[in-house]
Amino acid sequence: MKYIVVILDGMGDEPVGSLGGQTPLEAAATPEMDYYSSHGMAGLSCNIPKGFTPGTDIGCMSIFGYDPAVYFTGRGPLEAAEHGIKLEANEIAFRCNLVTLEGDLLEDFSADHISLGEARNLLESLNEKLTAKGPAKICFYPGHGTGYRNLMVCQDPAHDMDRIVCTPPHDVMGQAYQNFFPKGPEAKFLIDLMEESRELFKNHPVNKKRLLDGKGQASMIWCWGQGHSPAFPSYFKRYGFHGAVITAVDLVKGIAIHAGLDVIRVPGVTGYFDTNYIGKAEYAVNALRSRDFVIVHIESPDEAGHIGNLKLKIKAIEDVDRLVIGTLRKSLSEFKDYRLMIVSDHQTCVESRTHAAGPVPFLIYDRRKEQKGPKKFSEKTAGLSGRFIEKGYELMDAFIKEGTK
Ligand SMILES: [Zn+2]
Repeated sequence: MKYIVVILDGMGDEPVGSLGGQTPLEAAATPEMDYYSSHGMAGLSCNIPKGFTPGTDIGCMSIFGYDPAVYFTGRGPLEAAEHGIKLEANEIAFRCNLVTLEGDLLEDFSADHISLGEARNLLESLNEKLTAKGPAKICFYPGHGTGYRNLMVCQDPAHDMDRIVCTPPHDVMGQAYQNFFPKGPEAKFLIDLMEESRELFKNHPVNKKRLLDGKGQASMIWCWGQGHSPAFPSYFKRYGFHGAVITAVDLVKGIAIHAGLDVIRVPGVTGYFDTNYIGKAEYAVNALRSRDFVIVHIESPDEAGHIGNLKLKIKAIEDVDRLVIGTLRKSLSEFKDYRLMIVSDHQTCVESRTHAAGPVPFLIYDRRKEQKGPKKFSEKTAGLSGRFIEKGYELMDAFIKEGTK
C-alpha cells in the first residue's frame, strides 16, 4: 500500500458574500478532486485545537498526526530543524526577526524585506558583540530564503525561557513596540538583548546603505516563538515505514525532520503562485517508488487568502487541482494499491485575510475499495457527509490504519 497526502495550505474558507454564499473551494472548478471525492469519502476535520492560534505549524502538526497539546514546543525549534541545527536538551531556539521601527512604533516585521546577505552581515555583528552577554551561550543563525526569518539559540538548562511570553511581530504592526516586549520573570535578558541590538544596528554599514537606497532600516531583532526540541515519535516507530515530504515552507520541513521523514527538494518550488506544481507531483510519485508514504504541501491558496484576492484564491485551488492532483491521478495508476488524502491545514479566510480555526474539508480515496462520496468536493458537501474529526491529529492514524485492513 502506498499513501499520499496533499495539504492545500489555507484552502478552507467561510461562505463569501460576493460568491452568493459559496466558498472559494465550492466556486472553483476542481474536476480532479471531485473525481476522488465522488469515488471516496469526505468529511470535516478540526486541525486547530482549542486554545491554539490557527497557523501552519499547529494545523500541519495535526495533519502529520501529532497532538499539538502534547508535542508543540514552539516555532523556533521546528525552524531550527530545517536549518540543520540540532538542539541539545539544555538549548532553546527563538525565531529572531529583523524589524523596522518608526519612532515608538513597530513599522515592519520583515525590515522592509531585508535581503539574506544584509541579514547575514547584521547577525555576524550580533555574534561578535552580543553573545558574551546574557545567562549562557547565545548564537544567531541567518535564515534561508528570506532575510528577516532568523534564529537565535541559547542555553536554558532550567527551562525557564519557555515561560517568557513573546509576541509575534506581525501581530503588532503599527503599534507601540515596547508594549509588546517579552513578559515574565525571565524576560529581562531578552529585552536587554533586543535593546542592545538596536544600539548596535543604529549606525551599522548595512543600515547606512539602506538609508541611501531609500529602504527601511533593520532597527532591531525581535525574539519570539521559542521552544526546546520536541520529542516526536517517528513515522517509522509509529507505522514501520519510510516516507518523505515535499514543501517550500520551513516550518513544514521542520515538522517532517522531527517526524523522521525525508525532505525532498524540487527544483522551481517557490511557495507562491508560480511554483512548480507539476514538478511537486512528479517528485511525489517518484518518492513513492522507494517509499511507502509521501506528503505534498502547497502554499499558494494561503497566500491568495492573505492578499484577500478571491479570484486568485479560486485560481490557486484550480491550478493545484489540475496540475498537482491531475498529474498524480495519471501517474499513481502505476501503483496497484494506494490511498490518497487531500486536506487543508486551517482556514485562510479571503474576506478577513487571516487564518481561522474552523473545521476544514478533507477527502480520502482508496483504490482498492471505491465508495460513493460527494460529487463536488467542498466544505458544505464534506460537512453533509457526516464524518467529523474532532481531534484533527487522529485523522492520520485513521487514514493509515484503514489502509492496513
Ligand atoms: Zn497554513
